[in-house]
Amino acid sequence: MAPTNRETPALRTNPKFIFFTDFDGTVTTADSNDFMTDNLGFGKAKRVESNKGVLFGHVHFRDSFQEMLDSINTPFNECLDILKKNIVLDPGFAEFYNWSRENNVPIVILSGGMEPVIRALLDILLGPWWDIQIVSNDVTSREGKDLNEKGGWTIKFHDDSIHGHDKSIEIRKYSSLPNRPTLFYAGDGVSDLSAAKETDLLFAKADKDLVTYCENEKVPFVTFRDWTTITQTVKDIVAGKTNVQEAAKGRI
Ligand SMILES: [Mg+2]
Repeated sequence: MAPTNRETPALRTNPKFIFFTDFDGTVTTADSNDFMTDNLGFGKAKRVESNKGVLFGHVHFRDSFQEMLDSINTPFNECLDILKKNIVLDPGFAEFYNWSRENNVPIVILSGGMEPVIRALLDILLGPWWDIQIVSNDVTSREGKDLNEKGGWTIKFHDDSIHGHDKSIEIRKYSSLPNRPTLFYAGDGVSDLSAAKETDLLFAKADKDLVTYCENEKVPFVTFRDWTTITQTVKDIVAGKTNVQEAAKGRI
């Protein structure tokens, strides 16, 4: 067991399993950034086209995502209010969250979205007592403007990578350790490409872009429709009834 330090906070309780997860469209049923782009920005048709460009390697997620968010002029506080009214939690996530707390399986959110959005939504969706580490992008005001004025905000990326947030950076802090915990990841879309190959078992949301990517890239995975199936599979692995290799069944 490596010493716990500031770089690897999920090891604080000496867990045997860590669950990394995307947030938008994975913990929630709909993606908050897609919702804003479709309803407040340049619209769904162009957004879906741009996602395809990322999926098939024609454009970087960072550039695609910047363009989407730059098409939104709505003040940031108004965006938060709109999202709080429209984004809902996956029907099985609260149960998984409670189980994870009781069974020492830390959850780490790795998101391409903006941290204040994730925090505001979790306050509503899980209640103000939620306690989950978040590693994500952030929001920043445009020069000379306030976040809460028209055209006043833009995304502040986590790192300099083509992903904006390279999710493999956080996962590799753990996967590179000797005698490390078993690592899981759940995701749904193009913001998850940098994480897809990094954990011991990947849950990919059924019918979404991440499944297409895994099949094209021959990355082992298992599909999920909501967190009830994730919960059952993780419980079975923790109980020793199955293992990560057996559980990677592809489309189920
Ligand atoms: Mg997502």
